[in-house]
Amino acid sequence: MKRSGFATVPAEPHYWLADARAQACLVEGNGLGQPDREGLVRLDLEIRDGRIARLAPLGSAPAGAVDLRGGQVWPGFVDIHTHLDKGHIWPRSPNPDGSFMGAIDTVVRDRVARWHAEDVRARMEFGLHCAWAQGTVAIRTHLDSHPPQADITWPVLKQVREAWAGRIDLQGSANMPMDFYATPHGTHVADLVAEAGGILGTVTRLNGEGHEALPPQFLELLEHIFRLAMDRGLNMDLHVDESGDRGARALIEVARTAERLGFKGRLQCGHCCSLALQPDDFIAATLKAVADAGITVVSLPMCNMYLQGRTQGRTPRWRGVTVLHEMKAAGVPVSIASDNCRDPFYAYGDHDMLEVMTQATRIAQLDHPIGDWPRAFTSVPASVMGLGERGRLKAGAPADLVLLSARFMSEMLSRSQADRIVLRAGKAIDTSLPDYRQLDQLVGAAP
Ligand SMILES: [Zn+2]
Repeated sequence: MKRSGFATVPAEPHYWLADARAQACLVEGNGLGQPDREGLVRLDLEIRDGRIARLAPLGSAPAGAVDLRGGQVWPGFVDIHTHLDKGHIWPRSPNPDGSFMGAIDTVVRDRVARWHAEDVRARMEFGLHCAWAQGTVAIRTHLDSHPPQADITWPVLKQVREAWAGRIDLQGSANMPMDFYATPHGTHVADLVAEAGGILGTVTRLNGEGHEALPPQFLELLEHIFRLAMDRGLNMDLHVDESGDRGARALIEVARTAERLGFKGRLQCGHCCSLALQPDDFIAATLKAVADAGITVVSLPMCNMYLQGRTQGRTPRWRGVTVLHEMKAAGVPVSIASDNCRDPFYAYGDHDMLEVMTQATRIAQLDHPIGDWPRAFTSVPASVMGLGERGRLKAGAPADLVLLSARFMSEMLSRSQADRIVLRAGKAIDTSLPDYRQLDQLVGAAP
């Protein structure tokens, strides 16, 4: 029996959740009536043997059901862009000035000096525990795969993925600047990724540089990386144009290259910040190319807001986020995720997708109407990750749910929802968050 302030869920194989609200865009099935102006429908849910047995109209539940008193039910969250290998190094390696280049330099120094297997494993586990306790069911993490880190981190990924199987579906994506792929190490990384069932990724910049005007060898390097992926049948996930520099125009080149080479895998591009600062005709041409190439985009608003437009002594003038509304309108599947957590790329965060949703809603104005934006944190990333049952409320799917006392989006997006109930296979889990002190020996206990 798990008690929370607003409901008590029995530890039994069969029960009902009565008087719930859910986002209609996440409900598969019909007969639940018209959504309200925030997109919410009212329903009862029958839970049986760890799965959702039935989504039923309000009033269907028998006596003795768990009364949610109008509170919301969400499918478990899907966080499709994280960096669990960098997470929580902030106490020992803070970003000196909060800048993008400060983040790169600090992470490189920390990685070279300290990322032995146990260090990476402990911090990854900590991040996974935070995410699990807050209702996330699947995570993709980028993994710095520079030499010699790839041979340390990828075995850890496999161990941790195995240890967390059944709790969090974990995917790994290689991450390193493009020029590393032109060396024998690049081929080695592609082989490691293929062997580990991972995803091939890069950042669209050179080692030690930022995302500014594309370097002369850009297209040649890009094609080489595509061919490494295609030769091995790998999906790709790139960090693209994470910059406010209008010279950063990699996204359209990625789309054109995918089309020209006939890339058949799944291709995701993250960030794409600088696109928001381009002229309208270039934005339109880029979005058409991205849609035609079947590229999906993931935006990381918390990290973008933190890093973009940062100059000491100058107030930031823009929010750092790409053209999310225009992308969705152009038919590009858009996900929103958390990115870095307590490391030099983002000083804050807690692997909490409800925080991501709250912040993203405010930063990118994903409201009035909310429309189907809730899919960007749930069903869209689930589909991109190849996890079709995730991120949806449907009969037969696992009862991996997040229950909130919040009835309306205004209530949900105004409070932290720290009293949420997280169900896994229909049973309430311990939602206590791990104590930061667990990492003191690795990352230090001083500011
Ligand atoms: Zn990232």
